[in-house]
Amino acid sequence: MTRHILVTGGAGFIGSAYVRALLGPTGPPGVAVTVLDALTYAGSLARLDSVTGDARLTFVHGDVCDARLVERLAAHHDDIVHFAAESHVDRSIESGTAFARTNVLGTQTLLDAALRHGIRTFVQVSTDEVYGDLPTGAATEESPLNPNSPYAASKAAADHLALAHHRTHGLDVRVTRCSNNFGPYQHPEKLIPRFLATLLSGGAVPVYGDGLQIRDWLHVDDHVRGIELVRTAGHPGRVYNIGGGTSLTNLDLTHKLLELCGADRSRIEHVEDRKGHDRRYAVDHTRITRELGYRPSYDFEQALLGTADWYREHTRWWQPLHRVAL
Ligand code: NAD
Repeated sequence: MTRHILVTGGAGFIGSAYVRALLGPTGPPGVAVTVLDALTYAGSLARLDSVTGDARLTFVHGDVCDARLVERLAAHHDDIVHFAAESHVDRSIESGTAFARTNVLGTQTLLDAALRHGIRTFVQVSTDEVYGDLPTGAATEESPLNPNSPYAASKAAADHLALAHHRTHGLDVRVTRCSNNFGPYQHPEKLIPRFLATLLSGGAVPVYGDGLQIRDWLHVDDHVRGIELVRTAGHPGRVYNIGGGTSLTNLDLTHKLLELCGADRSRIEHVEDRKGHDRRYAVDHTRITRELGYRPSYDFEQALLGTADWYREHTRWWQPLHRVAL
């Protein structure tokens, strides 16, 4: 029997990596995938080029807040894996409205449809940013949510809504919270691709404040494997942190990117810090490791080198986006 999976935001950076993995040679047998994506500035169908001819893939251009469309789709699907979001913290600082709409109302719209149409599993793809700043230690799934940016607050609200639908209605909801991702096809507004694109174009990279903010970096394909483990083997109503990448200050990361692009430190420009900038994120991913046997498989240095090579070889994809993002 075919399992019909609705992937929202499947033309985005991580959603598309998930779709490519599902339909790739090591993907599960017996799946059919529908991508629902509004193709905002962040969406790109080119990310799905390698699977576009696959008869198991259907693309629907639409909005997760469109209740009629979402209802119609939910009626024909078993699972929903929900990636669609406004995802860039800096944009949420300029205005949180689109974040509240897509990330909160969009999630609620999907949950309503999931309930009405008996969706079997709903995976809410979330972020470690909901835990907020952690001076020491690492957030477990039981840690309090303390989101500090409008982006993180909208994701935390969506997580609460999703989990409330498990508690109140018994909907099989599973939430993943992952650390920072990197890899091919990431929009050049995000730190690693932005810096690679800027350095490869001969420019200077803007480092926020002292650059000592600490983040955990995970290759997107490791994130995607974690999500698929949660969809197929996770427990209803449970949250799973996904991490285990490499923890670095933004400045250390910048130095590595400079080296990969053959640039020296004069190409760093320290700029005013981001408002409300969290100093440190860290997630404890013991649960997904113990329960589901998850382990990241990428070596960070190799993966960063591979990502730099990918950006070097795909200028035609990122150049138009980079010009707009600057
Ligand atoms: P992205 O911005 O690259 O992609 C988002 C996708 O959603 C785009 O294709 C966009 O067109 C689509 N979209 C936006 N609004 C929509 C709407 N109203 N209806 C339908 N589609 C819409 O984001 P990403 O980096 O791939 O992140 C995907 C998910 O993973 C997000 O929920 C994000 O919060 C989460 N996440 C991201 C990271 C990271 O490091 N990027 C880490 C952890 C979790």
